[in-house]
Amino acid sequence: MYEILSFLGFMVLILVSGVFATNIYCRIAYNWCSGCGAMNAKRRVQCRKCSAVMTPQAGKG
Ligand SMILES: [Zn+2]
Repeated sequence: MYEILSFLGFMVLILVSGVFATNIYCRIAYNWCSGCGAMNAKRRVQCRKCSAVMTPQAGKG
């Protein structure tokens, strides 16, 4: 019984860390348009959906 519980705990840990990693990666690599909320790659200068000018977030180069 304990083995099953520890295995389940291990699986949950992997899933949670995967979600965290994806979340962090999205924050690093993407910007969200303030106008329409579309996800755009950070190097884009205009939103791919509504063509609004993407303003870079302060504090990061
Ligand atoms: Zn947009």
